[in-house]
Amino acid sequence: MLRSLMLAASRSGPLRTFAEDTPLLRPVVDRFVAGTTLDEAVAAARALTADRLVTVDHLGEDTTDRSRAAANTDAYRTLLRRLGDDGLAPRVEVSVKLSALGQALPGADGEKIALDHARQICEAAHAAGTTVTVDMEDHTTTDSTLQIVRDLRVDHPWVGAVVQAALRRTEGDCRDLAGSRVRLCKGAYDEPASVAFRARRDVDLSYVRCLEVLMAGGRGSGYGLPMVATHDPVLIDIARHLGRGRAYEIQMLHGVRPREQRELAAAGETVRVYLPYGTEWYGYFVRRLAERPANLAFFARSLLTR
Ligand code: FAD
Repeated sequence: MLRSLMLAASRSGPLRTFAEDTPLLRPVVDRFVAGTTLDEAVAAARALTADRLVTVDHLGEDTTDRSRAAANTDAYRTLLRRLGDDGLAPRVEVSVKLSALGQALPGADGEKIALDHARQICEAAHAAGTTVTVDMEDHTTTDSTLQIVRDLRVDHPWVGAVVQAALRRTEGDCRDLAGSRVRLCKGAYDEPASVAFRARRDVDLSYVRCLEVLMAGGRGSGYGLPMVATHDPVLIDIARHLGRGRAYEIQMLHGVRPREQRELAAAGETVRVYLPYGTEWYGYFVRRLAERPANLAFFARSLLTR
């Protein structure tokens, strides 16, 4: 119930504007977000590469303005040039949300605009010597996003897809995608029972079934790589067991279980940190609060002690 309320709040335009314009919230947001500027993001990424890999997200989503979608694309191209120039590629790649690139633009051509923008980002990534992973948003976008990933892979077979164990369709999607770069996560959106498992246990069981499919997939086009995106220690143990003898990554969010990230890396696991930066942090931040009730207490305490 609380999670559903929080996730509804994460899409509220007025709350977004209020929060992003309130400097008081910034120190609290900083636990999950690397900063607002490119320099801050690059410095944080460089520090992490001492023992981990990184995927940088230039924050933005649900863009309904064409010029904003173009500006988001330019921000990624600038970021990728910088990663190449600073020698951080390929240890640092980027993650993109298609709704930031125009997928949600009103009218029929949103998907085409997003594909065109995503292609420009893939070309910049190729020039920098790194990769792109396309984040997955709510279930209404799954077919469109997977189609765009397929289109991008014609020229750039290394493009990563994301699937969400919470969705009933995902085990089938994993069968289609196994042998390519696929990030498996539980799913951060509030989805209806008609398309999604609602009980935690069912989501976890689905996650294990999907892991089995992805880990059994070969190298496919040569880029096949299961990317296990979770902080759940039981699922990480299962992934390590299923992944013995093959390449895979464990991925976690910046600011979540950092000690465990370092311990896994020290134990020889390939760990990649999802590192968001930018001024449009509201939706991302509220989803992180919704994932863990204790985060709300942390948030309230931080504000009260300010
Ligand atoms: P949970 O059962 O939620 O958490 C397990 C444990 O991890 C918790 O008990 C807690 O100790 C810790 N934990 C989890 N979340 C938090 C938090 N926010 N703050 C503090 N502790 C926490 N979702 C999408 O829908 N689309 C995407 O494209 C996407 N990309 C992702 C990329 C990466 C690299 C990661 C790690 C997650 C991504 N997610 C994405 C989010 C994901 O779907 C989950 O919402 C999120 O990872 C929490 O689920 P969990 O697997 O960690 O399990």
